[in-house]
Amino acid sequence: MKIGIVGGGIAGLTAGYRLAKNGHQVEIFEASGNVGGLAAGLQVAGTSLEKYYHHLFTSDTCIRGLVDQLGIRSKLQWFPSQMGAAYHGKLYKFGTPAQILQFSPLPLWERVWFGLIGLYLGKKNDWKEFENVTAVKWMKSHCGSKTWSIIWEPLLKGKFGRYYDKVAMAWLWARIHTRFSSRKGDGEKLGYFEGGFEVFNQALAKAVRKAGVQIHLNQPISRILTDKNQLKGLEVNGQTKAFDKVIFSAATPIFLKTCPELPADYIKRLTQLDFLGAQCLILVMKQKFSDMYWINMNDGDIPILALIEHTNFVPKEWYQGKHLMYVANYLPQDHKYFKMNKNEIFAELLPYLKKVNPKFDPSVVEEIHLSQDLFAQPVVPLHYSSVKPTYETPIENVFLANMALVYPEDRGTNFAVDVGNKAARLVDPSVQIPAFKE
Ligand SMILES: Cc1cc2nc3c(=O)[nH]c(=O)nc-3n(C[C@H](O)[C@H](O)[C@H](O)COP(=O)(O)OP(=O)(O)OC[C@H]3O[C@@H](n4cnc5c(N)ncnc54)[C@H](O)[C@@H]3O)c2cc1C
Repeated sequence: MKIGIVGGGIAGLTAGYRLAKNGHQVEIFEASGNVGGLAAGLQVAGTSLEKYYHHLFTSDTCIRGLVDQLGIRSKLQWFPSQMGAAYHGKLYKFGTPAQILQFSPLPLWERVWFGLIGLYLGKKNDWKEFENVTAVKWMKSHCGSKTWSIIWEPLLKGKFGRYYDKVAMAWLWARIHTRFSSRKGDGEKLGYFEGGFEVFNQALAKAVRKAGVQIHLNQPISRILTDKNQLKGLEVNGQTKAFDKVIFSAATPIFLKTCPELPADYIKRLTQLDFLGAQCLILVMKQKFSDMYWINMNDGDIPILALIEHTNFVPKEWYQGKHLMYVANYLPQDHKYFKMNKNEIFAELLPYLKKVNPKFDPSVVEEIHLSQDLFAQPVVPLHYSSVKPTYETPIENVFLANMALVYPEDRGTNFAVDVGNKAARLVDPSVQIPAFKE
């Protein structure tokens, strides 16, 4: 079969790998100049660093399986992580049960209760009931008032902004559940590739090419060509390319734009689903900002979701001894920060960085990089299963395989591999996917 894949992110590459290994003739079209999509790297301090902070959980068995098949298990290393919370000018450790018990902004009984709720959600496998209630309503009625105002309200508002009270509890359940199921007795360890996720992206792209796939970089698909709900081909650079089947792995709003012949009710249903953009400043510093890997902003008035100090997670020696920190935000597409340059955004956020760490001196910042994508996080509303897109689309032989499908899980590289695997098996049910072995 002749198969066209739109998008050279991890889902598109995985689908291409599986199908080409099963004997199909595959071409991948990628709009940007590099593979990897949201997990792509840029050159920082002499090595490749992800545009956005990335790590893996031990429970991420889909991607770990593929890592093994690519022969790069030794590159995936596991490091302890230090999670923190910034509250009223003070930094607190906030990762282990013992640290949560010492988190003095919450009354003691609420700290214990917070842990018990985490345990309950982590152990609960049946998530269906969480589809019918918002995270705001569930948390407000199950946790103490201080836990709500200091932990959950800033987290939900920081991540989802204007949509914060629309998000289903199923989304929050998935976040807590993943974290819980990846913990072992010796505390949390997170995975990272020596050389960055680019090592994985390039190993996958190499295997894809070796299987006979052409990866066309800088070649955005402008249109999916159809006739009466039948696929005709893809339009690229003004040319038509015929395919028997197409897998579309870019974000849903791009799918709707490139396939205007989709039925009006389908377009209407999927247009109602919102996405947030992601924006990260990467600060390259000669001194560290803090001792934590990840700091959540627990003061409601700080317009930053989290600070992720990458070199408090992996060795700074990998980056010529520099300290690297992401200043991370999810924002609606019309947010003013998307119209600002990196220096303007840094100037805007500097007073808040100083609020988190009053000793922070901006002269330690040697370089700033800016990464942004407009469709980086699906907003999961109530009853999402009844509105979410499926792999099959109204156009015969056109399949959607993007992050809007991973529900109830939240998007991540592990689920991009899973989506790529599943799309490949829909196109050709004889595709075999070896199981991950510890
Ligand atoms: C801030 C942030 C932090 C994250 N942290 C983590 C983490 O810690 N761990 C983790 O596992 N995951 C993390 N993720 C998620 C992870 O990066 C994504 O879930 C995953 O990379 C998605 O892969 P994908 O292939 O489904 O989609 P994408 O990566 O979005 O790939 C889609 C590709 O399609 C291309 N494209 C778009 N339009 C066209 C067109 N018209 N024609 C051709 N190509 C097109 C795009 O350029 C892109 O390369 C994070 C994401 C963000 C934004």
